Amino acid sequence: MSRFLKENYKSLEVYTPGEQPKDGEYIKLNTNESPFPPAPAVVDLLTKQDVENLRLYSDPTLCTLKEKLAKLYGVEKENIFLSNGSDDILNFAFMAFGHNGALFPDITYGFYTVFAELHGVEYEEIPLREDFTVDYKDYLGRNKLIVIANPNAPTGDSRPLWEIEEIIKSNPDSVVVIDEAYVDFGGNSAYKLIEKYDNLLTVRTFSKSRSMAGARLGYAIGAKGLVEDLMRIKFSTNPYNINRLTCALGEATVDAEDYYTEKCKEIMSVREYTKEKLEELGFEVLSSSSNFLFAKHNKISGEKLYTELKSRRILVRHFTKERICEFNRITIGTLKQMDTMIDAIKEILKGE
Ligand code: PMP
Repeated sequence: MSRFLKENYKSLEVYTPGEQPKDGEYIKLNTNESPFPPAPAVVDLLTKQDVENLRLYSDPTLCTLKEKLAKLYGVEKENIFLSNGSDDILNFAFMAFGHNGALFPDITYGFYTVFAELHGVEYEEIPLREDFTVDYKDYLGRNKLIVIANPNAPTGDSRPLWEIEEIIKSNPDSVVVIDEAYVDFGGNSAYKLIEKYDNLLTVRTFSKSRSMAGARLGYAIGAKGLVEDLMRIKFSTNPYNINRLTCALGEATVDAEDYYTEKCKEIMSVREYTKEKLEELGFEVLSSSSNFLFAKHNKISGEKLYTELKSRRILVRHFTKERICEFNRITIGTLKQMDTMIDAIKEILKGE
């Protein structure tokens, strides 16, 4: 750290992304990426001309992609905001709407605390219930920026829409952000409520269900006023926030919706299969509406299981936070990858 850094950034605890190993092949089940490639039309899309066109800036209005998404969801293009990964939208939301403080669960996406610290937003982490679910009653009438991942990560639980609506309705003077990164794997989306509530922003990503984590493309479906606010920030930081290639790939992705719906179904079915297998081996596995499972075993610590799997070149995600350190978060891969993991776990448990 240099002596030039602004004081309030010096103590910042930065976000630690999941490992991206460089030492050869792993079965990578640690960052909730899709095990499937993008749709064939997306894979085949880019031409030499597209690369040559990189000399030109991208379209700062991102009009075509917004129109396609608006059509897909039956909203207006003024309800859509696009960003370089959905992390950018979450960052903007804390920056723009956090001045009265923020609330989010104690066990949730680890970036929320980082964004709050980054923007000097006072925040309260509300404990999940004993069973690791959000109690919507904790968020009623608080009138602070509320950020809830639904489905939540790393737990996978999804709350019903009526609970989310109660939260939105009872906080009319503050923004409610529903982070729907995993909603396509069986969650309940709140985006249709934007017609009724001017304080709702739902945040989504192409990183998980659309197999495009490396392209960095996120979007929000929100009340028009909130989208305008986010645009103000975008045009004050980085007007060309989506590169030309990602924009083209995003458009083709929206056109291939059926392919992704199929792949999500497949992931959900492999998820239930894996859950059953893990339970047969004595794991406690939280019920999940996402593309991962959160599981622990009383014969082996979370950390040891993570380490043993890693030594067999299978990567899962372990968190050190006290309340969840006995768990591992396991991204759902292909059926074959899951079977390999189950076999490895059987072998590991034999030694316990
Ligand atoms: N929200 C949640 C709950 C996540 O787990 C992630 C992925 N780490 C994101 C948002 C951000 O995803 P991305 O920036 O790739 O769109």
